[in-house]
Amino acid sequence: MSIDAEINRAARGLSKTLIAIRRDIHQHPELGFQERRTSQKIVETLKSVGLDRVQSGVAKTGVVGVLQGGPARNATHSVAGGRAAHTVALRADMDALPITEANQVSYRSRTPGIMHACGHDGHVTMCLGAAMILKKIQARIPGAVKFIFQPAEELLDGARAMIRAGALNDPDVEAIFGMHISPRMPYGVVGASAGPIMAAADRFAITVYGKGGHGAQPENCTDPILIAHQIYSGIQGIERNLAGPDVRVISVCSLHAGTAFNVIPGSAEMMGTVRTYDVRVQDEIIRRMRAVVKGISGAHGGRCDLVYRKGLPVTCNDARLVEIVHAAGRALKAPVGDNVLTMGAEDFALYTQKVPGAFMELGVQKCPAQPSYHHCRFDFDDRILSMGAAMMARCALLFLEQGGLGR
Ligand SMILES: [Zn+2]
Ligand SMILES: [Zn+2]
Repeated sequence: MSIDAEINRAARGLSKTLIAIRRDIHQHPELGFQERRTSQKIVETLKSVGLDRVQSGVAKTGVVGVLQGGPARNATHSVAGGRAAHTVALRADMDALPITEANQVSYRSRTPGIMHACGHDGHVTMCLGAAMILKKIQARIPGAVKFIFQPAEELLDGARAMIRAGALNDPDVEAIFGMHISPRMPYGVVGASAGPIMAAADRFAITVYGKGGHGAQPENCTDPILIAHQIYSGIQGIERNLAGPDVRVISVCSLHAGTAFNVIPGSAEMMGTVRTYDVRVQDEIIRRMRAVVKGISGAHGGRCDLVYRKGLPVTCNDARLVEIVHAAGRALKAPVGDNVLTMGAEDFALYTQKVPGAFMELGVQKCPAQPSYHHCRFDFDDRILSMGAAMMARCALLFLEQGGLGR
């Protein structure tokens, strides 16, 4: 039997087990850095699978497992003792969201106010499934596979903590694959395209300082609401006046000033987010935002503070790894298309800044009206999990079969 047929058969055989794991995790959702039960379940499962190494408590609740394959086929890629020199990582995020689940399914969340509404229960399960599949063909894996289960993706902090804790080292990871369930993509389709696929996400806060006073005497005041209002328009104008075809979003999402109907306040506060795909556009937006804020407040005799914080960078898929994803899809007879580009952000981006990475999406959409991410009715047909596990396993194996990225 070919290795592809074997992977597909193993995946099909695991389907019920994977659905049971996902539903158990779904019923016990945990927020970022609090995924203790989830973490424990991952550790128990990886140990029962028989991984060579399982490390818990990485970045508080993270787990890292290592499966050491058989001797590398190519002697130049192996080190003493037949241990393979190439290592590839599969990553899953573990955390849930502070949402009360509105689904009435038997496996709905048992924790009020917390719900797996982003599919991370599925991601954990698929990564565990990949470990189970790869264990069955361990002797034929020409390298090592590392399974990275990270906390707190929704807090956008988990990947950073895992990298700091050394998740990409010992053995050193050369490439990383991640997968996200996608309610925007047709059921069963895998999406992976080269280049930027998710946006950089920044935040800004503006404080406008004026001079407060009586609402009947604006001539004696410097009205911060008037200044904030014009800054709002000026900021939206930046987006309109930028050159280039690439997408970007500037959104002011919060505006607060004043407490009484007849008092002009002394200050106003605004907050918002900037999403970009191109670092030059990002820098240009920051430059123009500073100019707008300073110019408008100065023109009205006020003063402004702009605090701009760069957040997660763009998630950028490595073209060579995307080719591997497409080849894995062909091998397993799984349809593969492109990622759905989004202005959302992912902390998988931080791994791709350290090593080449590919972030795939797995379509679970059965009808266009299906509730999307972070919705209280988000859910998916979990018969898809075995296919996701097979894809992750095949990508890791293909990478190692190719001898890595050719060091
Ligand atoms: Zn999410
Ligand atoms: Zn997510």
